[in-house]
Amino acid sequence: MPQKTKQTPMMIQYFDIKAQYPDAFLFYRLGDFYELFYDDAIKGSQLLELTLTTRNKKADDPIPMCGVPHHAAQNYIDILVEKGYKVAICEQVEDPKLAQGMVKREVVQLVTPGTTMDNGINESKENNYLTAIIEDGGVFGFAYVDLSTGELKTSRLDNLDNLINELMSLRTKEIVINSSLSNTTIETLKKLNIMLSIQELGESHAESSYAIQDLTDSLEVTVVTDLLTYLSVTQKRSLDHLQKAVHYEPDFFLKMDHYSKYNLELMQNIRTGKKQGTLLWLLDDTKTAMGGRLLKQWIDRPLINYAEILDRQKKVDLLINHYFERSTLQEELVKVYDLERLAGRVAFGSVNGRDLVQLKLSLRQVPKIKYVLEEINDGTFSDVINKLDPVDDVANLIERAIVEEPPLSVTDGHLIKQGYNDQLDVYQDAMKNGKQWLAEMEAKERELTGIKNLKIGFNRVFGYFIEVTKSNIVNVPKDRYERKQTLTNAERYITPELKERESIILGAESKAIDLEYKLFVEIRETVKKSIERLQLLAQGIATLDVLQSFAVVSEDSHFVKPLLLKEGHQLAITAGWHPVVEKVMGKQSYIPNDVNMPETLDILLITGPNMSGKSTYMRQLALTVVMAQIGCFVPAEAAKMPIFDQIFTRIGAADDLISGQSTFMVEMKEANQALKNATENSLILFDELGRGTATYDGMALAQAIIEYVDKHVHAKTLFSTHYHELTVLEETVKSLKNVHVGAIEENGELVFLHKIQDGAADKSYGIHVAKLAGMPTELLSRATLILTDLEQKNEHSNTTSNSQQTINEEETQLSLFTSEELSKDQSAVMDELKALNLMNMTPRDIMNVLYDWQEKL
Ligand code: ADP
Repeated sequence: MPQKTKQTPMMIQYFDIKAQYPDAFLFYRLGDFYELFYDDAIKGSQLLELTLTTRNKKADDPIPMCGVPHHAAQNYIDILVEKGYKVAICEQVEDPKLAQGMVKREVVQLVTPGTTMDNGINESKENNYLTAIIEDGGVFGFAYVDLSTGELKTSRLDNLDNLINELMSLRTKEIVINSSLSNTTIETLKKLNIMLSIQELGESHAESSYAIQDLTDSLEVTVVTDLLTYLSVTQKRSLDHLQKAVHYEPDFFLKMDHYSKYNLELMQNIRTGKKQGTLLWLLDDTKTAMGGRLLKQWIDRPLINYAEILDRQKKVDLLINHYFERSTLQEELVKVYDLERLAGRVAFGSVNGRDLVQLKLSLRQVPKIKYVLEEINDGTFSDVINKLDPVDDVANLIERAIVEEPPLSVTDGHLIKQGYNDQLDVYQDAMKNGKQWLAEMEAKERELTGIKNLKIGFNRVFGYFIEVTKSNIVNVPKDRYERKQTLTNAERYITPELKERESIILGAESKAIDLEYKLFVEIRETVKKSIERLQLLAQGIATLDVLQSFAVVSEDSHFVKPLLLKEGHQLAITAGWHPVVEKVMGKQSYIPNDVNMPETLDILLITGPNMSGKSTYMRQLALTVVMAQIGCFVPAEAAKMPIFDQIFTRIGAADDLISGQSTFMVEMKEANQALKNATENSLILFDELGRGTATYDGMALAQAIIEYVDKHVHAKTLFSTHYHELTVLEETVKSLKNVHVGAIEENGELVFLHKIQDGAADKSYGIHVAKLAGMPTELLSRATLILTDLEQKNEHSNTTSNSQQTINEEETQLSLFTSEELSKDQSAVMDELKALNLMNMTPRDIMNVLYDWQEKL
């Protein structure tokens, strides 16, 4: 950074402000532009594709600079924030004309990834969360807010794993931290690649009494205050739309860690990262942005409370049974704009005329929606209906005040309707009808005075005047007319009325613009008083929207209402399917499957060739559970199921991106999580567990894990494996049953049946799959040969080892020592073999060595 002393006063001011925002791009307002200087300019010009110029070109050290016009600044700000930067917006805070010396400037807002208000159209179904964390003896106070909608939630999280899960599920854009966090926590957070912003505790600038009034936990109070302080420091304005902080317990919802959510592709397609091909994509027929966001929240947090699930189910059922009403609802919902974000903008002060018209149009939909719902309501929808307040006073106010097609700008007039404000009407009248009005006055004055050639004129010096020829002066009403100018054959007069009109006509436009803005702000402030009502309404609309979406998708996809069991652990799904795979491949091609796990059956051991559908079968069950517990119908002909408290999965081979651990380590950690935390009400899905290590190692672990589940956990567990040896466990593990996915060989080709059948699979078909994958024929023949050889050897060893392939618990200890010891000669040969330098040997040398070895063995 250059020497401050050599700089102009303006640059000194710039440095002072920049020093307060070292980690943000400083958009420094200069007239009609925002300018960036020095490093900001160099980096900014690259990121924003702007021309880099210099200030003080002739000086020894010209200042790098680039700029954007102020009216187009929002786009540039959005780009930078989207790329993960902060932008400090520095405005001139006094009128340059009135300023003595340097115009005063201040940062009026710090825009950060977690505090953007204006998401693009595409993101309207996306929440934008800012999170705050504090740590206290390994326990975390956790709070998050969506500044655009006002949603504010808080919780206490017991450990780092839970914290990471919450952060990942929320897809938070920015995390506010402080020195209460341990180094371990900070290091872990850094790996998440989310912006970390520091806000020291105890610096509270926020008026948070409203937000925290329902909280009882002191850790939560502190973290919410911390979050609000960060908001007030960065946003520098009142945030009246923030809702009361709501405490939530992650335990009140079906628990899944973020890997499970990721692997089950609930919201994000693993390959593309997009929504297409996910459960969200399948279930989303929401018509409003609010509904879209709520649907995500529901999928993220399925319920575990029987009554709550049943309540949603009943509503979906009712909507399914009322086709016409449902279609009408959809048509009406489409016309509802994003009430939550509109309310947010009202509070934030960034609302414009068009937003208010959208708000009005949305509110006008409410009575129609309510009417349709009342038609079908048998009590089921009463709680939703109660939220559908049409906020008539606000709608009526906007109706009376704001024109139907207002401009984007709120400071250039043309916003307010005629008839709303008398004074404004006068101005507008004057603007439109200035001449007309003068003509009328002229006529009126002629009549009053009887002077037929009286006329009203205008000149720059005197403005408007009434001109009377000398011969008519006697008829001039002296009490009203004031003489202003004498000409040779005429006198010019003014009247108070004419002067008043003159100032109206001349100043009408600028006055109208000022008044319109003032009125607009008044209207905005009035609407602001109804924000809580608007938010409540938004909740009602969002809920209804998600429910109708479930109804539509359930009906179109022929889902069935699951029978949820209040007690017991019976799981019986008849002809179920994976809803996303089925949708992609078409109903005809998908083979439905049953899942039958009575009370006492805990473990299904699934064998079958690769690519036969084991993993799909397991995912299908997980999705069915999630769908049932968010209140939707499920993809099956019939389904009877318990309510699960947690889903644990080990599916897919995602490395742990956060801790950089190997796949196998992650696999074991996840298995451990499941074994430690699962209850008899949980669902565990282990796909090919143990394949990340050596065969026997993996198989031993797999078996031990199965036995552990059987003895201690009793969770419903689906375990797919390619270790066929494990299938004998059915004989010893009471709660386990073998099933397999059938495949048949036809003319040497493998045909997958995709059908789950009882019993174990008899072959692994690996080579067939390799053939399907197009491997070279030579390689395939070689593999077939090796396989036959291995199988023969195996048979031989089976006869000698009592045909027990898996390892009995008693044998585990022994087996460590039973591997055949090599004879001395054999080891000598091995040592020599290892030491051979083949490159320096002729084929004859090699022949000789081989001969020697043969002799020895
Ligand atoms: P595995 O886990 O046994 O290796 P997958 O579950 O990955 O096999 O399934 C492989 C492919 O088989 C899937 O991509 C899907 O296209 C197809 N598939 C799976 N289950 C079915 C089914 N029930 N009906 C039709 N096709 C299926």
